[in-house]
Amino acid sequence: MSRPSWLAIFLVALTSLGPFDTRAASDDAARGKEDRFRSLYRQLVETDTTLSSGSCTLAAERMAARLYEAGYGGSDVRVVVPPAFPRQGNLIARIPGTDSKLAAVLLLAHIDVVEAKASDWKRDPFKLVEASGYFHARGTVDDKAMAASFVDAFIRFREEGFRPERTVKLALTCGEETDAVFNGVQYLLTHEPDALAAGFAVNEGGSGRLDGRGRPVSFGVQVGEKVYQDFTLTATSPGGHSARPTGDNAIGRLAAAVVRVDAYRFPVNMTAATRDFFRRSASQYDGETARDLAAVGSGTADVSALARIAAADPLWNAFLRTTCIPTLIKGGHAENAQPQHAEANVNCRIMPGESVERVRERLADAVADPAIGITLADKPGPQPAAPPLDAHIMAPLEAIVADMWPGVPVIPSLSSGATDGRFLNAAGIPTYGISGVFRDNDGNGVHGLDERIRVAALLDARAFLYRLVRAYARE
Ligand SMILES: [Zn+2]
Repeated sequence: MSRPSWLAIFLVALTSLGPFDTRAASDDAARGKEDRFRSLYRQLVETDTTLSSGSCTLAAERMAARLYEAGYGGSDVRVVVPPAFPRQGNLIARIPGTDSKLAAVLLLAHIDVVEAKASDWKRDPFKLVEASGYFHARGTVDDKAMAASFVDAFIRFREEGFRPERTVKLALTCGEETDAVFNGVQYLLTHEPDALAAGFAVNEGGSGRLDGRGRPVSFGVQVGEKVYQDFTLTATSPGGHSARPTGDNAIGRLAAAVVRVDAYRFPVNMTAATRDFFRRSASQYDGETARDLAAVGSGTADVSALARIAAADPLWNAFLRTTCIPTLIKGGHAENAQPQHAEANVNCRIMPGESVERVRERLADAVADPAIGITLADKPGPQPAAPPLDAHIMAPLEAIVADMWPGVPVIPSLSSGATDGRFLNAAGIPTYGISGVFRDNDGNGVHGLDERIRVAALLDARAFLYRLVRAYARE
């Protein structure tokens, strides 16, 4: 066993302090509120909300109790439990605005979490542990950091007698991670549409990025999501004995089609947000890359600049266009028979606003073999256009980021994962991914093992979201 190095201890202490120095916790009142937030966050994180063994209903009731305790009542706070899903409860709450002409702002966070197999984790996934500057437990980031921050903001607004001009709505929903079973946003859109009706919504999906030493690099805002869609390519042939090949071979035909799909590049089709992403990212590079990024962002890039950007980073390519790649292949039925059937799955991530049917047509053009069937592998989900990159959204946000993290650029992006934002956008509620959480390069164990968040990052996200909601509600 080696003795601890004082240098190591000093470095750990330094790292755990991190680059965050924006917390205004110096006076007792602020510290008391921070303690209360920590206890609320602990209670929420330690309430198991997995599909297999947890209860969103219990979590929603516990958060509702916090709001009642703060003085909310009547119809302003409700726990909505779907009759067929007694453990998939959702919390809805509101602060009525003083100006009925202004559309509401909706704060959305999901309270269910991804399964966590305790035997694989270093610690109990449902016990919040603070160690080495991090909070460790399932849901510490996704999405209970936001959910707890929103409830905390509601409590503080009540204490302060804050009267927003816009109605502020809160929805803590269940089933974001397992929407094939149940999804709280879809349920509320159908059964309690007024709970979600809003001029715009703040949701998960956009995070800040930290460098290897924990310093903020950029502040991400998610503006739209790519649409997930699988297609099936199918080839059939008569088959027969493999000793007497006929030349009509389903595997051969399918293989040729798969090669062509793999090589195919969809035309460039940027959204306002991805154009802005390239424009704003230019300042973080130099030389030809900086010039190419700026040109792509301003719409003046030539074919070779676009090709360089697409080749430089798979994410950049994904921001430029719809992508489709073959991901699974199967075919044949015996070693000694000509195949009768072969099929491949092609997974597409479609730019918002581009139709699934148009993508199918382009795949058919790329395959260039009418004998290959191209069908949807599953029922298409919502296909919303990206929400507008609106100054009413961006200006207050940029002002707060500039104040809290001077010099850190706000960078809009498109998400290739799917959040509940796709349901809201499809319902006509422009939804923006603004978590205020800065994440480490390693992904913080989100959806994986040993999920964790820097304590300072959590407290900053809480401070940021409080200010953001106040700014949006005032507008
Ligand atoms: Zn999430």
